[in-house]
Amino acid sequence: MTAAAQSAAAVRPSTMSPFEQVKKHITDALDAIGVTDAEAEIVMTPNAIRDATLEVETKKGPRKLPAYRVQFNNARGPYKGGIRFHPNADLEEVKALAATMAVKCAVIDVPLGGAKGGVAFDPKEYDRDDIEKISRAYIRAMHPYLGIDIDIAAPDVYTTPEIMGWMLDEYETITGKNEPGMITGKPLVLGGSVGRDTATAQGAVHVLQAYVREQDLDPNNLRVAIQGFGNAGSVIAKLLHEAGYTIIALSDSKGTLHDTNGLDPDRVEEAKKAGGSVTAAAGGGAEALDGTAILALDCDILIPAALDNQIREDNVGSIRAKIILELANNPTTPEADAILAERDVTVIPDVLANAGGVTVSYFEWVQNRQQYYWTKEEVDERLKQKMLAAYATLSARVHAESVSYRDAAYRIGMERIHRAMAQRGRYETH
Ligand code: NAD
Repeated sequence: MTAAAQSAAAVRPSTMSPFEQVKKHITDALDAIGVTDAEAEIVMTPNAIRDATLEVETKKGPRKLPAYRVQFNNARGPYKGGIRFHPNADLEEVKALAATMAVKCAVIDVPLGGAKGGVAFDPKEYDRDDIEKISRAYIRAMHPYLGIDIDIAAPDVYTTPEIMGWMLDEYETITGKNEPGMITGKPLVLGGSVGRDTATAQGAVHVLQAYVREQDLDPNNLRVAIQGFGNAGSVIAKLLHEAGYTIIALSDSKGTLHDTNGLDPDRVEEAKKAGGSVTAAAGGGAEALDGTAILALDCDILIPAALDNQIREDNVGSIRAKIILELANNPTTPEADAILAERDVTVIPDVLANAGGVTVSYFEWVQNRQQYYWTKEEVDERLKQKMLAAYATLSARVHAESVSYRDAAYRIGMERIHRAMAQRGRYETH
């Protein structure tokens, strides 16, 4: 097992599998909105599970890599979801992420369903040529199930716009079609959307700002700790820094960087580029700590922006933040969620907080269909409208039903999916 796989495997002590955890949120929501047990069984079963073994000749020798595409629900539109390259990307995790995508698309109200893909390997052990081979092999295995009207792929953890470009090229070579809308998060030159690279973080900032305004808080008095310094984490660090929040800690897979006086995310990014980790920026008032330290630091807002299963029953007691903004998918286990609710910690859930990514992916898909491209201002404005509208609906539900933001979000999302299922007659037996 690689070091990355060991550290990832070490954080799986929830009694529930990742898919069971998401199912618990869905079941609670379906109970609350009065869906029958028979209907619940149907809506909670993934529509299709595609798996394959990618046989790839790498520079390290021949490899057989498990690969997945889970198509959870398409009642509201074509399947949509990213592809993750990670040693932990097993079927249970991919199923959980596919279900989360379906709920997220419904919460943000874009006409798409939910899917997710994964390849179980550690991309840090392979060079660019091997990653390209693995990316193309994934599409060779999965292309019959993908397409602009069927299932639209995208980046996720350790997959990039460059990888989306290779995947699009492989797909179009096999099918002989020009079909940029089969994948989003592409480089601009291949039909990507302006604003997609910052969309996840920007969407979360709109939601956080709306919450902060509603609670009459002042960003200048709020201290933020962010776990993960990748696409999502590094961009939100910069945006919140610009908006006046104090970024007191940043972390990545190698460690945590902490400074009570505040960090400058641009400087940390430069140091990480040169030194391989955020901890390379240690010095002056900034101290390097181990990776897990980030969760227990004294701060007002904690932003998990790395992987799932980070806030668990065994470590939730050490969390001091009063607001958790879930930029990662499924970072909090249901057991930890219940404890946070008892302690009155506000958790703004992934299915809203990080929905800016899929929203601009949806915009990218719309632009590809029209072959007509929007300006950055248009994308930004439409993203803002979508995030604020979804937040307002969610907040109203939280107050009307006295439930957590997560429960309200799952109720809204599952209500919309359930209605579409019923209208399609998907619950009827023929
Ligand atoms: P990324 O690959 O760009 O970055 C992942 C980051 O997490 C890296 O900085 C890595 O060092 C860090 N990391 C890995 N293991 C860690 C650990 N144990 N402790 C601390 N940091 C660790 O991925 P990303 O696109 O930023 O995605 C991060 C999370 O956000 C994922 O849960 C993903 O599903 C979610 N998300 C991303 C998007 C998007 O548009 N990028 C959209 C929605 C949700």
